[in-house]
Amino acid sequence: MIDTVKTENEKNQGDKVNLLGLSPQKLIEFFDSIGEKKFRATQVLKWIHQKGADNFEDMTDVSKALRTKLTQICEIRAPEVVSQNISSDGTRKWVIRTDGNNNDCVETVLIPDGDRATLCVSSQVGCTLDCSFCSTGKQGFNRNLTPAEIIGQVWLAIKSFGPFDPNGPRRVTNVVMMGMGEPLMNFEPVVDAMTLMMDDNAYGMSKRRVTLSTSGVVPKIYELATRTDVSLAISLHAPDNALRDVLVPINKKYPIAELLDACQHYLSSLPDKRHITIEYTLIAGVNDSEDQARDLVTLLSDLECKVNLIPFNPFPNSGYDKPSNNQVRRFQKVLADKGYTVTVRTTRGDDIDAACGQLVGDFHDRTRRSQKYIDVKTL
Ligand code: SAH
Ligand code: SF4
Repeated sequence: MIDTVKTENEKNQGDKVNLLGLSPQKLIEFFDSIGEKKFRATQVLKWIHQKGADNFEDMTDVSKALRTKLTQICEIRAPEVVSQNISSDGTRKWVIRTDGNNNDCVETVLIPDGDRATLCVSSQVGCTLDCSFCSTGKQGFNRNLTPAEIIGQVWLAIKSFGPFDPNGPRRVTNVVMMGMGEPLMNFEPVVDAMTLMMDDNAYGMSKRRVTLSTSGVVPKIYELATRTDVSLAISLHAPDNALRDVLVPINKKYPIAELLDACQHYLSSLPDKRHITIEYTLIAGVNDSEDQARDLVTLLSDLECKVNLIPFNPFPNSGYDKPSNNQVRRFQKVLADKGYTVTVRTTRGDDIDAACGQLVGDFHDRTRRSQKYIDVKTL
């Protein structure tokens, strides 16, 4: 039983089971496997995720004997924080070191906005999908994050404000899986972590406030519908297949029509009425014309959706430019005039490189894609 809840990376760190990443169900199964009752698992779940416990001795309502047993065979281990930066606009960015031998780092960003605080969580060390305008993609890929490394980002962000206070205002109100990596390419760990985010005995967030963003791994969208009811965001970025093939190469495998069918299916499988968020990164002279905005209107006419425009965030050697504010407004107006709710994502945390697509972490690239990219750019 223990083996089914330990990943390869966790095993490499010694024999103790890291309870931080176990979903409520897996924690109950684990407690069962060591001869302990279900309610004990719930107590420990609350200690870890609602009170921020990182050791068993603090768990005062758990018997001394069980605390000793847990200390011997388990641990509560969050990823190590390498650095924390706070931007002049209040945005916080953490570089966290993940388990393993390469000192791999990923990034997490917390964006406060009035009474909301949205945490942008990473799911992979790098990304396999190689979108042409994304610095994470250009860095290549090393490995998937474990559930503990994913939920650990939420745990650490809350803890950065001091001891957990269950009666105080929520320090993280929303989570978006929009950091480094493609969440649907790391399916089970991401589903486990999102389950913890929404569980009443853990973080208790509403399903409307937990959003998974995908570039369009179509079969996994169908699978997601059977496993969870989080909100879904789609990184579309182009109104036609020819352009999307270039910007988001996974489109060659799962073209736009199949992706939109999957979105319809996902919405129809939800118990409540919701919309899909369409993310569209505007790149000057590539996908930001008013004709393209009109094509987008036609494409999305049957889908219950809101559109979020993201002006391209430049990074060194990207080969792309940011559109002017006027061009962004013109594009937005075409959609708004047709009745779409369309927001423009303002750049936050620019002074600490925390903006979308600027998250690069620091890791060993197993794909060697980053090397190819550097070679091409220096020719
Ligand atoms: N892999 C997932 C989630 C992470 S990317 C996805 O692609 O949806 C989060 C968002 O940032 C995506 O919409 C992505 O397309 C966008 N993005 C990536 N690079 C960007 C850049 N340089 N400028 C603006 N947005 C970018
Ligand atoms: Fe991966 Fe998303 Fe970046 Fe594409 S945009 S390379 S899917 S992280």
